[in-house]
Amino acid sequence: MKTILAKATENDTEVLVKASEFIKNGGLVAFPTETVYGLGGNGLNADAVKNIFKAKGRPMDNPLILHISSLSQLEELVKEVTPCAKTLIDNFWPGPMTLIFRKTDIVPTETSGGLNTVAVRFPENIIARKFIEMCNLPIAAPSANTSGRPSPTKAEHVFEDMNGKIEMILDGGECEIGLESTVIDVTGENPVICRPGGITLEQVQKLFPLACYDRHLIEENSQDFKPISPGMKYKHYAPKGDLTVLDGDFSKIKEFMLKNPDAGFITFDQYRITNSEKEFSLGNINSPLDCSHRLFDILRECDSMKLTKIYSMRPPADGVGFALCNRLFKAAGGKIITLD
Ligand code: AMP
Ligand code: MG
Repeated sequence: MKTILAKATENDTEVLVKASEFIKNGGLVAFPTETVYGLGGNGLNADAVKNIFKAKGRPMDNPLILHISSLSQLEELVKEVTPCAKTLIDNFWPGPMTLIFRKTDIVPTETSGGLNTVAVRFPENIIARKFIEMCNLPIAAPSANTSGRPSPTKAEHVFEDMNGKIEMILDGGECEIGLESTVIDVTGENPVICRPGGITLEQVQKLFPLACYDRHLIEENSQDFKPISPGMKYKHYAPKGDLTVLDGDFSKIKEFMLKNPDAGFITFDQYRITNSEKEFSLGNINSPLDCSHRLFDILRECDSMKLTKIYSMRPPADGVGFALCNRLFKAAGGKIITLD
Protein backbone atom coordinates (compact mmCIF):
# COMPACT_ATOMS: atom_id res chain seq x y z
CA MET A 1 0.00 0.00 0.00
CA LYS A 2 1.24 3.51 -0.82
CA THR A 3 0.99 5.81 2.20
CA ILE A 4 0.19 9.44 1.35
CA LEU A 5 2.06 11.94 3.54
CA ALA A 6 0.26 15.30 3.35
CA LYS A 7 0.81 18.61 5.12
CA ALA A 8 -2.40 19.55 6.88
CA THR A 9 -3.81 22.78 8.24
CA GLU A 10 -7.25 23.36 9.65
CA ASN A 11 -8.20 25.38 6.56
CA ASP A 12 -7.00 22.88 3.97
CA THR A 13 -10.39 21.33 3.36
CA GLU A 14 -9.24 19.31 0.34
CA VAL A 15 -6.68 17.31 2.33
CA LEU A 16 -9.08 16.78 5.25
CA VAL A 17 -11.91 15.65 2.95
CA LYS A 18 -9.58 13.11 1.31
CA ALA A 19 -8.53 11.83 4.75
CA SER A 20 -12.14 11.54 5.92
CA GLU A 21 -13.05 9.58 2.79
CA PHE A 22 -10.39 7.01 3.58
CA ILE A 23 -11.90 6.65 7.06
CA LYS A 24 -15.47 6.34 5.79
CA ASN A 25 -14.29 3.55 3.47
CA GLY A 26 -12.75 1.62 6.36
CA GLY A 27 -9.16 2.87 5.84
CA LEU A 28 -6.62 4.23 8.34
CA VAL A 29 -5.28 7.79 8.66
CA ALA A 30 -2.73 9.08 11.18
CA PHE A 31 -3.39 12.60 12.48
CA PRO A 32 -1.84 15.05 14.94
CA THR A 33 -3.30 15.72 18.39
CA GLU A 34 -1.92 17.87 21.20
CA THR A 35 -0.57 14.73 22.94
CA VAL A 36 0.95 12.43 20.26
CA TYR A 37 -0.01 11.39 16.70
CA GLY A 38 -3.02 9.04 16.59
CA LEU A 39 -3.59 6.15 14.18
CA GLY A 40 -7.25 6.69 13.28
CA GLY A 41 -9.96 4.43 11.94
CA ASN A 42 -13.75 4.20 12.22
CA GLY A 43 -14.20 3.16 15.86
CA LEU A 44 -17.60 1.62 15.14
CA ASN A 45 -16.31 -0.60 12.33
CA ALA A 46 -14.84 -3.84 13.73
CA ASP A 47 -12.82 -4.50 10.54
CA ALA A 48 -11.21 -1.04 10.55
CA VAL A 49 -10.40 -1.51 14.23
CA LYS A 50 -8.81 -4.93 13.58
CA ASN A 51 -6.63 -3.28 10.94
CA ILE A 52 -5.42 -0.72 13.50
CA PHE A 53 -4.29 -3.56 15.79
CA LYS A 54 -2.59 -5.22 12.82
CA ALA A 55 -0.77 -2.09 11.61
CA LYS A 56 0.59 -1.46 15.13
CA GLY A 57 1.18 -5.08 16.10
CA ARG A 58 -0.85 -4.27 19.23
CA PRO A 59 -2.16 -7.03 21.54
CA MET A 60 -5.94 -7.36 20.98
CA ASP A 61 -6.70 -7.06 24.71
CA ASN A 62 -5.36 -3.49 24.81
CA PRO A 63 -8.42 -1.32 24.04
CA LEU A 64 -8.50 1.79 21.87
CA ILE A 65 -9.54 5.34 22.72
CA LEU A 66 -12.47 6.80 20.74
CA HIS A 67 -11.91 10.43 19.71
CA ILE A 68 -14.85 12.80 19.32
CA SER A 69 -15.17 16.40 18.13
CA SER A 70 -18.36 17.38 19.97
CA LEU A 71 -20.02 16.39 23.22
CA SER A 72 -23.15 15.26 21.36
CA GLN A 73 -21.12 12.34 19.94
CA LEU A 74 -20.66 10.97 23.46
CA GLU A 75 -24.31 10.03 24.02
CA GLU A 76 -24.51 7.01 21.74
CA LEU A 77 -21.21 5.59 23.01
CA VAL A 78 -21.74 5.55 26.76
CA LYS A 79 -24.44 4.26 29.11
CA GLU A 80 -24.04 6.97 31.69
CA VAL A 81 -22.17 10.24 32.26
CA THR A 82 -21.62 10.12 36.03
CA PRO A 83 -21.48 13.40 38.02
CA CYS A 84 -17.76 12.77 38.37
CA ALA A 85 -17.37 12.52 34.57
CA LYS A 86 -19.46 15.64 34.04
CA THR A 87 -17.26 17.76 36.31
CA LEU A 88 -14.06 16.57 34.62
CA ILE A 89 -15.56 17.19 31.16
CA ASP A 90 -16.55 20.73 32.15
CA ASN A 91 -13.04 21.43 33.36
CA PHE A 92 -10.69 19.59 31.00
CA TRP A 93 -12.38 18.92 27.63
CA PRO A 94 -11.34 19.53 24.95
CA GLY A 95 -7.86 18.51 26.09
CA PRO A 96 -5.34 15.78 26.97
CA MET A 97 -7.76 13.74 29.11
CA THR A 98 -9.36 10.36 28.29
CA LEU A 99 -12.34 9.18 30.33
CA ILE A 100 -13.50 5.60 30.85
CA PHE A 101 -17.28 5.04 30.77
CA ARG A 102 -19.58 2.01 30.69
CA LYS A 103 -20.08 1.36 26.98
CA THR A 104 -23.21 0.90 24.86
CA ASP A 105 -23.64 -1.98 22.41
CA ILE A 106 -22.81 0.24 19.44
CA VAL A 107 -19.11 0.09 20.45
CA PRO A 108 -17.61 -3.13 19.02
CA THR A 109 -15.86 -5.46 21.47
CA GLU A 110 -12.75 -5.17 19.26
CA THR A 111 -12.58 -1.45 20.14
CA SER A 112 -12.99 -2.04 23.87
CA GLY A 113 -10.64 -5.03 23.99
CA GLY A 114 -13.47 -7.18 25.32
CA LEU A 115 -14.19 -4.86 28.29
CA ASN A 116 -17.67 -3.50 29.06
CA THR A 117 -16.20 0.00 29.26
CA VAL A 118 -14.99 2.41 26.58
CA ALA A 119 -12.34 5.15 26.67
CA VAL A 120 -13.29 8.49 25.05
CA ARG A 121 -11.34 11.71 24.42
CA PHE A 122 -12.25 15.08 23.00
CA PRO A 123 -8.90 16.46 21.79
CA GLU A 124 -8.06 20.14 21.62
CA ASN A 125 -5.87 20.14 18.49
CA ILE A 126 -7.74 21.99 15.79
CA ILE A 127 -6.65 19.71 12.89
CA ALA A 128 -7.76 16.66 14.90
CA ARG A 129 -11.13 18.23 15.60
CA LYS A 130 -11.77 19.31 12.00
CA PHE A 131 -10.75 15.87 10.74
CA ILE A 132 -13.03 14.03 13.20
CA GLU A 133 -15.85 16.44 12.40
CA MET A 134 -15.53 15.69 8.68
CA CYS A 135 -15.50 11.94 9.32
CA ASN A 136 -18.65 12.42 11.42
CA LEU A 137 -17.71 9.25 13.34
CA PRO A 138 -15.99 8.43 16.61
CA ILE A 139 -12.37 7.82 15.58
CA ALA A 140 -10.52 4.98 17.31
CA ALA A 141 -6.94 6.17 17.57
CA PRO A 142 -4.11 4.64 19.56
CA SER A 143 -0.71 6.28 19.29
CA ALA A 144 0.53 5.91 15.69
CA ASN A 145 3.68 3.93 16.52
CA THR A 146 4.54 0.25 16.23
CA SER A 147 3.48 -1.29 19.55
CA GLY A 148 6.25 -1.06 22.14
CA ARG A 149 8.19 1.74 20.34
CA PRO A 150 8.36 5.38 21.49
CA SER A 151 5.13 7.25 20.68
CA PRO A 152 5.25 9.57 17.64
CA THR A 153 5.38 13.31 18.27
CA LYS A 154 6.24 14.25 14.64
CA ALA A 155 4.82 13.06 11.29
CA GLU A 156 8.31 11.66 10.42
CA HIS A 157 8.04 9.31 13.42
CA VAL A 158 4.70 8.02 12.12
CA PHE A 159 6.18 7.56 8.64
CA GLU A 160 9.08 5.51 10.10
CA ASP A 161 6.66 3.04 11.70
CA MET A 162 3.58 3.11 9.43
CA ASN A 163 4.81 3.66 5.87
CA GLY A 164 3.12 1.10 3.60
CA LYS A 165 0.66 0.02 6.31
CA ILE A 166 -1.92 2.85 6.31
CA GLU A 167 -3.60 5.04 3.70
CA MET A 168 -2.54 8.51 4.83
CA ILE A 169 -0.59 10.60 7.35
CA LEU A 170 -1.71 14.17 8.10
CA ASP A 171 1.38 16.20 8.96
CA GLY A 172 0.38 18.95 11.38
CA GLY A 173 3.88 19.59 12.77
CA GLU A 174 5.15 18.73 16.25
CA CYS A 175 2.70 17.78 19.01
CA GLU A 176 2.55 20.42 21.74
CA ILE A 177 2.54 18.12 24.79
CA GLY A 178 4.37 15.08 23.49
CA LEU A 179 3.05 12.65 26.16
CA GLU A 180 -0.16 10.63 25.85
CA SER A 181 -3.40 11.71 27.54
CA THR A 182 -4.21 11.16 31.19
CA VAL A 183 -6.60 8.16 31.34
CA ILE A 184 -9.20 8.46 34.12
CA ASP A 185 -11.83 5.92 35.18
CA VAL A 186 -15.04 7.83 35.89
CA THR A 187 -17.40 4.90 36.39
CA GLY A 188 -17.33 5.38 40.20
CA GLU A 189 -17.92 8.28 42.56
CA ASN A 190 -14.32 9.49 42.48
CA PRO A 191 -11.88 9.64 39.56
CA VAL A 192 -9.13 7.00 39.39
CA ILE A 193 -6.12 7.85 37.21
CA CYS A 194 -5.07 4.74 35.27
CA ARG A 195 -2.39 6.36 33.11
CA PRO A 196 -0.67 9.61 34.16
CA GLY A 197 -0.39 12.37 31.54
CA GLY A 198 -0.67 16.10 30.88
CA ILE A 199 -3.60 16.55 33.30
CA THR A 200 -2.13 15.85 36.73
CA LEU A 201 -3.48 14.19 39.89
CA GLU A 202 -3.02 17.54 41.67
CA GLN A 203 -5.33 19.25 39.13
CA VAL A 204 -7.96 16.52 39.49
CA GLN A 205 -7.72 16.57 43.31
CA LYS A 206 -8.63 20.28 43.33
CA LEU A 207 -12.07 19.12 42.13
CA PHE A 208 -12.12 15.68 43.83
CA PRO A 209 -9.94 15.51 46.95
CA LEU A 210 -10.42 11.72 46.99
CA ALA A 211 -9.15 11.22 43.42
CA CYS A 212 -6.26 8.76 43.33
CA TYR A 213 -3.94 6.75 41.10
CA ASP A 214 -4.77 3.16 40.19
CA ARG A 215 -2.84 1.02 42.74
CA HIS A 216 -0.86 -0.48 39.89
CA LEU A 217 0.90 2.87 39.25
CA ILE A 218 2.25 3.37 42.76
CA GLU A 219 2.71 0.06 44.54
CA GLU A 220 5.97 -1.82 44.49
CA ASN A 221 4.51 -5.23 43.80
CA SER A 222 2.20 -3.97 41.11
CA GLN A 223 2.62 -7.20 39.14
CA ASP A 224 0.44 -8.84 41.80
CA PHE A 225 -2.77 -7.22 40.55
CA LYS A 226 -4.31 -6.17 37.28
CA PRO A 227 -4.16 -2.52 36.17
CA ILE A 228 -7.54 -0.95 35.19
CA SER A 229 -5.97 -0.01 31.84
CA PRO A 230 -4.81 -3.24 30.20
CA GLY A 231 -2.15 -1.32 28.24
CA MET A 232 -0.26 -0.47 31.42
CA LYS A 233 0.96 -4.05 31.83
CA TYR A 234 2.96 -4.02 28.58
CA LYS A 235 6.51 -2.82 27.96
CA HIS A 236 6.15 0.46 26.10
CA TYR A 237 7.89 3.39 24.50
CA ALA A 238 11.21 1.53 24.24
CA PRO A 239 14.09 2.54 22.00
CA LYS A 240 15.95 -0.28 20.20
CA GLY A 241 19.01 0.35 22.39
CA ASP A 242 19.10 -0.85 25.99
CA LEU A 243 17.90 2.01 28.24
CA THR A 244 18.65 2.28 31.98
CA VAL A 245 17.65 5.07 34.38
CA LEU A 246 20.41 6.48 36.64
CA ASP A 247 19.59 7.76 40.09
CA GLY A 248 21.69 9.18 42.92
CA ASP A 249 24.43 11.71 43.38
CA PHE A 250 25.16 13.92 40.34
CA SER A 251 28.96 13.75 40.72
CA LYS A 252 28.71 9.93 40.61
CA ILE A 253 26.43 10.06 37.57
CA LYS A 254 28.93 12.35 35.86
CA GLU A 255 31.79 9.96 36.66
CA PHE A 256 29.72 7.04 35.32
CA MET A 257 28.94 8.88 32.09
CA LEU A 258 32.56 9.85 31.47
CA LYS A 259 33.56 6.19 31.89
CA ASN A 260 30.98 5.12 29.27
CA PRO A 261 31.66 7.41 26.30
CA ASP A 262 30.08 5.04 23.75
CA ALA A 263 26.68 5.15 25.41
CA GLY A 264 23.93 7.67 24.78
CA PHE A 265 23.11 9.93 27.73
CA ILE A 266 19.91 11.77 28.54
CA THR A 267 20.48 14.74 30.84
CA PHE A 268 18.99 18.18 31.63
CA ASP A 269 20.06 21.73 30.70
CA GLN A 270 21.28 22.35 34.27
CA TYR A 271 23.24 19.07 34.33
CA ARG A 272 24.99 18.88 30.98
CA ILE A 273 28.18 16.85 31.21
CA THR A 274 29.82 16.78 27.77
CA ASN A 275 29.47 18.40 24.36
CA SER A 276 29.11 14.98 22.80
CA GLU A 277 26.42 14.48 20.17
CA LYS A 278 25.47 11.37 22.15
CA GLU A 279 24.31 13.49 25.06
CA PHE A 280 20.74 14.73 24.75
CA SER A 281 19.19 17.25 27.12
CA LEU A 282 15.52 16.82 27.91
CA GLY A 283 15.44 20.56 28.70
CA ASN A 284 15.01 22.54 31.89
CA ILE A 285 14.80 20.12 34.85
CA ASN A 286 12.25 22.44 36.48
CA SER A 287 9.93 22.29 33.48
CA PRO A 288 8.59 18.72 33.23
CA LEU A 289 6.24 19.70 30.41
CA ASP A 290 9.17 20.90 28.34
CA CYS A 291 11.07 17.67 29.12
CA SER A 292 8.04 15.48 28.32
CA HIS A 293 7.79 17.16 24.97
CA ARG A 294 11.33 16.00 24.05
CA LEU A 295 11.45 12.48 25.50
CA PHE A 296 10.09 10.34 22.65
CA ASP A 297 11.95 12.31 19.99
CA ILE A 298 15.23 11.78 21.87
CA LEU A 299 14.59 8.03 22.19
CA ARG A 300 14.05 7.83 18.43
CA GLU A 301 17.20 9.92 17.81
CA CYS A 302 19.17 7.41 19.91
CA ASP A 303 17.88 4.71 17.56
CA SER A 304 18.81 6.59 14.43
CA MET A 305 22.34 6.94 15.86
CA LYS A 306 22.29 3.15 16.51
CA LEU A 307 23.20 3.59 20.18
CA THR A 308 23.05 0.19 21.83
CA LYS A 309 23.34 1.48 25.44
CA ILE A 310 21.49 4.53 26.70
CA TYR A 311 21.43 6.00 30.21
CA SER A 312 19.03 8.65 31.45
CA MET A 313 19.10 10.83 34.53
CA ARG A 314 15.95 10.47 36.60
CA PRO A 315 13.53 13.44 36.36
CA PRO A 316 11.73 14.80 39.44
CA ALA A 317 8.35 13.06 39.78
CA ASP A 318 6.00 15.85 40.76
CA GLY A 319 3.17 17.25 38.63
CA VAL A 320 3.59 16.29 34.97
CA GLY A 321 6.97 14.85 36.05
CA PHE A 322 5.08 11.80 37.36
CA ALA A 323 3.90 11.01 33.82
CA LEU A 324 7.38 11.67 32.42
CA CYS A 325 8.92 9.25 34.97
CA ASN A 326 6.23 6.66 34.17
CA ARG A 327 7.13 6.75 30.44
CA LEU A 328 10.87 6.73 31.07
CA PHE A 329 10.68 3.75 33.46
CA LYS A 330 8.46 1.82 31.05
CA ALA A 331 10.86 2.60 28.19
CA ALA A 332 13.68 1.25 30.40
CA GLY A 333 11.67 -1.88 31.27
CA GLY A 334 12.00 -0.76 34.93
CA LYS A 335 15.84 -0.89 34.92
CA ILE A 336 17.45 1.57 37.32
CA ILE A 337 20.97 1.92 38.75
CA THR A 338 21.45 3.93 41.93
CA LEU A 339 24.87 5.57 42.19
CA ASP A 340 25.84 6.97 45.57
P1 AMP B 1 -2.89 4.39 23.42
O1 AMP B 1 -4.02 4.01 22.56
O2 AMP B 1 -1.61 3.82 22.92
O3 AMP B 1 -2.84 5.85 23.72
O4 AMP B 1 -3.24 3.71 24.80
C1 AMP B 1 -4.54 3.83 25.34
C2 AMP B 1 -4.53 3.49 26.80
O5 AMP B 1 -5.86 3.58 27.29
C3 AMP B 1 -4.05 2.06 27.05
O6 AMP B 1 -3.27 2.02 28.23
C4 AMP B 1 -5.37 1.33 27.24
O7 AMP B 1 -5.21 0.14 28.00
C5 AMP B 1 -6.23 2.38 27.93
N1 AMP B 1 -7.66 2.10 27.73
C6 AMP B 1 -8.34 2.17 26.57
N2 AMP B 1 -9.64 1.77 26.78
C7 AMP B 1 -9.76 1.46 28.08
C8 AMP B 1 -10.82 0.98 28.91
N3 AMP B 1 -12.03 0.73 28.42
N4 AMP B 1 -10.56 0.75 30.21
C9 AMP B 1 -9.34 0.99 30.71
N5 AMP B 1 -8.29 1.45 30.00
C10 AMP B 1 -8.48 1.68 28.69
MG1 MG C 1 0.44 4.00 22.79
